[in-house]
Amino acid sequence: MGGEDVTMQNIRRETTAENICVLTFDRDGSSANIFDRDTLLELETQIDGIWNEKPRGLVIMSAKEDIFIAGADLKAVAGLRDEELKSYITLGQTVFNHLAELRIPTVAAIHGACVGGGYELCLACDYRIATRDRVTKIGLPEVNLGILPAWGGSTRLPRLIGIPGALDVILGGRTLAARPALKRGMIDTIAPREYLLQAAIKAVSHGKPHRFYSRILHSPPVNSVVALAIGKYVNMKTRERTHGHYPAVFKAMEVVLRGAGKWTVAKSLALEAEAVTELAKTDASRNLIRLFFLQEGARKLSYPTAQKLPPRKMARAAVIGAGVMGASIAQWLSARGLRVVLKDVDAARVAAGMDRIMQLYANGYKRHTFTFVEARDGVDRISPVPGDFLMKGIDIIIEAAVEKMDLKKQIFSKLDAQAPAETILATNTSALSITEIAGATKMPDRVVGIHFFNPVYKMQLVEVIVGRQTRPDVVQRTLRFVQQIGKLPVVVQDSPGFLVNRILLPYLVEAARLFEESATTEAVDGAMLEFGMPMGPLRLIDEVGVDISADVAATLAEKFSGRLGMPVTLTKMLGEKLLGRKSGSGFYTYKGREQRVNSGVAKFRTGNSAAAYTEPELQRRMVLLMVNEAVRCLEEKVVATPGDVDFGMVMGTGFAPFHGGPLAYADTVGIAKIVDDMKTLVQAAGPQYEPCALLAEMAATGKTFYGGNEIGK
Ligand code: NAD
Repeated sequence: MGGEDVTMQNIRRETTAENICVLTFDRDGSSANIFDRDTLLELETQIDGIWNEKPRGLVIMSAKEDIFIAGADLKAVAGLRDEELKSYITLGQTVFNHLAELRIPTVAAIHGACVGGGYELCLACDYRIATRDRVTKIGLPEVNLGILPAWGGSTRLPRLIGIPGALDVILGGRTLAARPALKRGMIDTIAPREYLLQAAIKAVSHGKPHRFYSRILHSPPVNSVVALAIGKYVNMKTRERTHGHYPAVFKAMEVVLRGAGKWTVAKSLALEAEAVTELAKTDASRNLIRLFFLQEGARKLSYPTAQKLPPRKMARAAVIGAGVMGASIAQWLSARGLRVVLKDVDAARVAAGMDRIMQLYANGYKRHTFTFVEARDGVDRISPVPGDFLMKGIDIIIEAAVEKMDLKKQIFSKLDAQAPAETILATNTSALSITEIAGATKMPDRVVGIHFFNPVYKMQLVEVIVGRQTRPDVVQRTLRFVQQIGKLPVVVQDSPGFLVNRILLPYLVEAARLFEESATTEAVDGAMLEFGMPMGPLRLIDEVGVDISADVAATLAEKFSGRLGMPVTLTKMLGEKLLGRKSGSGFYTYKGREQRVNSGVAKFRTGNSAAAYTEPELQRRMVLLMVNEAVRCLEEKVVATPGDVDFGMVMGTGFAPFHGGPLAYADTVGIAKIVDDMKTLVQAAGPQYEPCALLAEMAATGKTFYGGNEIGK
């Protein structure tokens, strides 16, 4: 490099011998680049320097391993007052405008995550080159946080790729790999990482970007009739998808469509700023941003332990049981680079597990999650064994055999006798006591629960369950392991149903009870879809399996007598082998991808007290039970914080994220109102609605789970 180098805290400026300026984002003391106020001001200063120096062109890149720029600093944004937020938004828009107005070709050289404000910076450049590496992800995920792209994203993307494409990316909150981003026109070309800088310099030197320069800044607005027609169609589709619950999606659509009809970029930017300030005040945005921080927290979660553990990654695992869960867990671990022994009782079952694993890899290959070589290497890392195996050097053994206490005890007793003392013994049980399983071993302090959710490849949450004797260092190593394999842990104390199933089951049972009392399948499931759940509860019972749902409900009913009576309908369905999707019929009938309400189950009804329930009444009956159980989990210290409960429920069940989880929902409705409604329901529907002590106390003292007067304060 030649010319003057100007290094600031977050951005370095160098000029090459050919008089090309290179701005490198390299946030001091961090593995990520983000846009906080200081970084924006630095960028402004660097752009001023470029105006003065008049290089032939500009390349913007990142020095980080796997991040280009990960967007705005949400920590700095959360909690800003209106005026402060507006000034932060205006600052970003102004700086990006200055970049867009530079009279030299400008190129973004993208490697790693390039999302939100990071991609908006690229949109203010004339040309975008990205690497094809897996870490490169490009997009505008703002609506997932209840806001919208307001540093020019909602204005410049429609001008670059057209309104339909831009709406798809912005309303879907999508981030794409380089190839699909190229297909949509979000970037202009792809280059290998080793040549990214050269490719960018070459593009600038050839003056290639000028073609794009005029396109982005001065493209004429679209015909407002066209915008209106697109708007109507997208509005309808979006309403179907979101049930109207995500204000940011509709606001973003309005801004894109109205902004695209404006002659000047400035007018469209003003719409962006106004809309984001409005959205930031909504409950939905507050809840979604809180969930984002909870996710970030889970990635760094640790468990207090007196020992200092070396930062060693786990390399070898064994999975006992090659059924649905065991095979899926083994596949996931092998895809994350671990060597895995997969064991079952005989060769046929191990082979069936390997078939399942092959299928998972084949599907992943089709979805472009793996290359052919990665899938092949993944399969090669798994050793299928029907008999005993050498346990020396294995870091963790995960048992995923059938859900029977006696069997699990036998397995653990044998593992304990054979596995080296430092090997962690984990069980994937859904509801059995970890402490009781550990009781079958001589070293119960190394036994822990590690509860994956089905399907493993899709569900990010893992409950790490602490038995009464589990050692803190074992919990801490298990947490690190969960993080190592790219899942998000929540620490749960050993108690019936742990966290997620304990809160979910009363809800499912209540749905079946409402059905039994003549509410229709459509009404019950429709009410909860309208509430914001990804799937109705009766459909969910079918998906989980009527037998498994009834089994877990029975286990919980035993522990919480009086609160969870089993509806006769479920027992009768079991009697007729109506097990849900796996048997072809349950509350619905299934044929290929098609499902229909199964009118055949209506004969199991025993009453009609719920026949005339309105949608809000149905929702109240089902949701309030979840709230009550969620508060009990807090009361009994099953988890440590309200955030743990809400995070677990949103990540583990898809509980409507914009409501923020059952406890955030209770805050929004008001604890006093929740308690009042429950008391009314005790009379009408049964003792399961009796508010738990903590809830009653909170209503009496005006406390909330989050916000001003929190519990514990
Ligand atoms: P599954 O019936 O599909 O698989 C169980 C496997 O364990 C079978 O292949 C069986 O042959 C094998 N097995 C039985 N005894 C064994 C032994 N002594 N040694 C080795 N293998 C043995 O069951 P699944 O759905 O995979 O569930 C496994 C565990 O995971 C259960 O504890 C279950 O509660 C839990 N779980 C299941 C789900 C789910 O949705 N299916 C979700 C989370 C957790």
